[in-house]
Amino acid sequence: MDLTGHDVVLVTLDSCRYDTAVAAQTPNLDRLSRLLRAETSGTYTLPAHTAFFTGNLPRPLEGGYPLGPHTVAAIWRSMAARPTSRTVGIDFNGRTLMDHYRASGFTVIGAGGVTFFDPAEPNNCLPGLFDQFHYFGRTNRDAGSPAARVASRSDNLTLTHAAELGRLCRGQDRFFLFVNCPSTHIPYTTPDNPLTPAVVPLLERLYELHDSKRSDPAAFSEAEVGVLLGLQRQALEWADRQLGSLFGSLAGRRVLVVVCADHGDEFGEAGRYGHAHAHPTITTVPLWCGLLGR
Ligand SMILES: [Zn+2]
Repeated sequence: MDLTGHDVVLVTLDSCRYDTAVAAQTPNLDRLSRLLRAETSGTYTLPAHTAFFTGNLPRPLEGGYPLGPHTVAAIWRSMAARPTSRTVGIDFNGRTLMDHYRASGFTVIGAGGVTFFDPAEPNNCLPGLFDQFHYFGRTNRDAGSPAARVASRSDNLTLTHAAELGRLCRGQDRFFLFVNCPSTHIPYTTPDNPLTPAVVPLLERLYELHDSKRSDPAAFSEAEVGVLLGLQRQALEWADRQLGSLFGSLAGRRVLVVVCADHGDEFGEAGRYGHAHAHPTITTVPLWCGLLGR
């Protein structure tokens, strides 16, 4: 299996829980592979992506990564890692996947929507790893009030721009496209699922608990947790439809695709909320992978 000439689409569904993916209808992602239960090495966006960009994707808990008729133990593996006899998709040279693909003649494109990817913030290290980075989210320098954060979202979601990202890729001889999708990140709103008055107090409480890292196992009733899980499920289903249109627009190209969450979200299972702390709801994430085209 020679994957060195394949274009690449690497997608992170920010904060998407594994059980959200189990409950969701994701026909476009399911065409890549079955849903894999995987373990991520980061509990929030920065360390998770730092691991991914050095080839350390979430690891499937059972078996390897299916790529068409093949299964590999690792999709990418740094030449700096210990030698292995396991099957590897692509051994890469360079500090990051983006360095490797750039040196191999690919155009390296990034797109994102959570603030770690805002190139206007000079202290962010991730967007500078790309030749070009398209950021659609809000800036961290905006007021962080609940009213500013608990909001309907459309243009500030990366996958709202799926058609233009597809056009950008089709214009390249070879491309590596990374897409960070904030739709599955709190407040979970999408063009198909705008904010409603009923969920505003729930989301404001969730933000407060996430920010404070306060333990409060009784902060939400079971029914309220069900509402939050439903919001994230609908956000994933919207992302699946947008990704389906992106994949369709790349018909005729040979593309290696990986879609995974960077980390999950805790809704009080062990008393805490959000992410950036170690708990199985945060470290267990969904992953799909596969090959598009010939
Ligand atoms: Zn994240």
